[in-house]
Amino acid sequence: MAQLENLEKPRNNSIKKDAASERKLNLLQRLFFPEILKALGYTFKQMFKPRVTMEYPEVTWDPPAIFRGRPVLVEDNGQERCVACGLCARACPPLAISMQASETEDPKERYPTFFEINMLRCIYCGLCEEVCPEEAIVMSKDYDITFNSREEAIYDKSRLLKSKEELKERLDYLREYRNRQFGQFWNFPEENNIHAVRPRDENWETGLSLVDMLEEKKAGEADQASSN
Ligand code: SF4
Ligand code: SF4
Repeated sequence: MAQLENLEKPRNNSIKKDAASERKLNLLQRLFFPEILKALGYTFKQMFKPRVTMEYPEVTWDPPAIFRGRPVLVEDNGQERCVACGLCARACPPLAISMQASETEDPKERYPTFFEINMLRCIYCGLCEEVCPEEAIVMSKDYDITFNSREEAIYDKSRLLKSKEELKERLDYLREYRNRQFGQFWNFPEENNIHAVRPRDENWETGLSLVDMLEEKKAGEADQASSN
């Protein structure tokens, strides 16, 4: 290894005239003209190659299903799938999600009275989508997001809800690729989504109602007590 001569100011060593890395330029190179011609030739060649840029916003890009655009709520049969469990709000790193849960007369039916995402905070990480047990919040293809005020950046249910037909590509993608890294395939059973899929049970007629379950439990306990 070459010894550095100027140890007091080591930076001066690199600008020595006889440094090994110094490139020797011939006369043509010192004129720079051939180099300019070479650069022009390269530019000319590129003019005939297919274009990879788009004239946005006149031409818009349709992203693939893997793309993570703004998060949206899935609307299923005219209702949100969301049961306001709060998991997405808990997982959201910048605390962008807020909601208030409520119940319908059927105590098993939960829904968010309001659901808001502050898009100034959202970092498009997709964690809300990962944790949602109902497949009720997914990342859409929407990347064209602008606001004129801070208030406008807070998306409420009316702007978040998108029908499952519109989100089909993303939902299919999630079904195919989710959890692959753990050696299992995501199989979202739609019947799990009782809130959105099960018809309203006003008269307590299905085996799923809370009253039936409580009565069954009471009968079971009475049986156990009498057998003892
Ligand atoms: S994508 Fe990430 S930052 Fe945005 S709402 Fe979901 S969890 Fe929060
Ligand atoms: S979107 Fe999913 S995770 Fe978030 S509150 Fe609704 S059901 Fe729970």
